[in-house]
Order: sequence, then structure tokens, then C-alpha cells
Amino acid sequence: MAGPDKRAAMEALVAEIRACTRCPLHATRKNPVPGEGDLDAQVMLIGEAPGRWEDEKGRPFVGAAGKLLDKLLALAGFRREEVYIANVLKCRPPGNRDPRPEEVRACTPFLDRQIRIIRPEVIMTLGRHSTGYLFSRAGLEFRRVSDVRGRVYEVEVLGLRVKLIPTLHPASALYNPSYRSVLESDFELLGRVVRGAVEPERPGPELAGRRRGTLEEFMV
Ligand code: SF4
Repeated sequence: MAGPDKRAAMEALVAEIRACTRCPLHATRKNPVPGEGDLDAQVMLIGEAPGRWEDEKGRPFVGAAGKLLDKLLALAGFRREEVYIANVLKCRPPGNRDPRPEEVRACTPFLDRQIRIIRPEVIMTLGRHSTGYLFSRAGLEFRRVSDVRGRVYEVEVLGLRVKLIPTLHPASALYNPSYRSVLESDFELLGRVVRGAVEPERPGPELAGRRRGTLEEFMV
């Protein structure tokens, strides 16, 4: 059970997100989507941005991608309410276009605060935007999810030592069914990591070589 300090910190953060006008997306959103789940979660999942149904409901991963996420989480041995789910952006980009660098810059201080409040042991990034952001926060170079998925990295993010598991965004499997088996494999890996059956690896020189991942580098 999360302590009162943790709950108060998250409530204050959610109130700020609901009132936020830091980037133009506030003008077109129906509802911001701050995130939800167990404040003491061992595992935090980070997606890209709200889509149409998330914008309608004000909750992350509802609709078809959310149903698939629930099934994937079950493969790892979790129910949705046992993890914490957030996005890089808290408001929907119109037409589900990609997040813009200035929006990511404006919004990610909220995600950073969520990570500091939750203090997860494992972070699973869903798709290239959240993977790119977490890699930049870990000082690592990022190019493609396909280069790093299926692996578990021991990294330091925001002063926390975490096991980072990059994978695809679940919505990708709705458009390309062959991605579903990739996601299933990566969520099974998540389950093994949580059970202590897989040791994380230190990022190799191909990721740490330049160690200067920036927002711009992964947004282009
Ligand atoms: Fe604020 Fe983030 Fe929404 Fe932009 S996307 S208005 S920064 S909460």
C-alpha cells in the first residue's frame, strides 16, 4: 500500500497535468491522460501518447491496444492494476501523429516525476518514443527498437538503478500481426526478469559509444 507521501505527491502531479497548458496539445485534448496503476509497482510501462479512446476516457491503454496489453501483461504474470502505466505525452496529438520534440520537452518533466515517485525496479518501454526518451535519460545512444528489443539492460535513470526492457508499442501488432509474437516474447521476458530468472546486461559499446542520446537524436 502506497504511503501518504507518495499518494500526495502523485495527486499533486495529476492536478498539475490536468491544468497544464505548457504545450499546444492542451487546446485539442478532451482529457489529459496522466497515467494509472499501483504507486508501489515493481514494474512501470511507458507508452507514447494517448490515442482517440484514451483521450475520450482520460485513461491509458483503453480500446484494442489496451485489451492486447492486458493479455501481454498476463503472460508476464501481472494484472494491469499491479503495474503502473504512463505515457511520454499526457495529451493526444491530433490524428495520432507522432509527438514533436517541443511537446516531448514540455511534457517529460511530468514523466520524470512519475518515475521518481514510483521508483520502479523494471521499466518496460513501449515503442520508439518512450524507448528513445529513456535511453536519452540513461545517456545511451538509440536508433531503432529492433536493435534493442528482447534484451534487458541495467541502467541508471534519474538516479535510480533500473532494469530497462524495450519493446514495440502494442498498437503496432494491431496493424502488423507478425509483431504480436515479438511482443509476447518480450512480455514473457519481463516475467522472467521479475522472477529473477534473467540477469540484466550492461549496455555495450554500441549503445554507450557516444553516450549522448538527445531528444533531437531520437525524434528525427
Ligand atoms: Fe501539458 Fe503534456 Fe498536455 Fe502538453 S502534452 S499540455 S505539456 S500535459
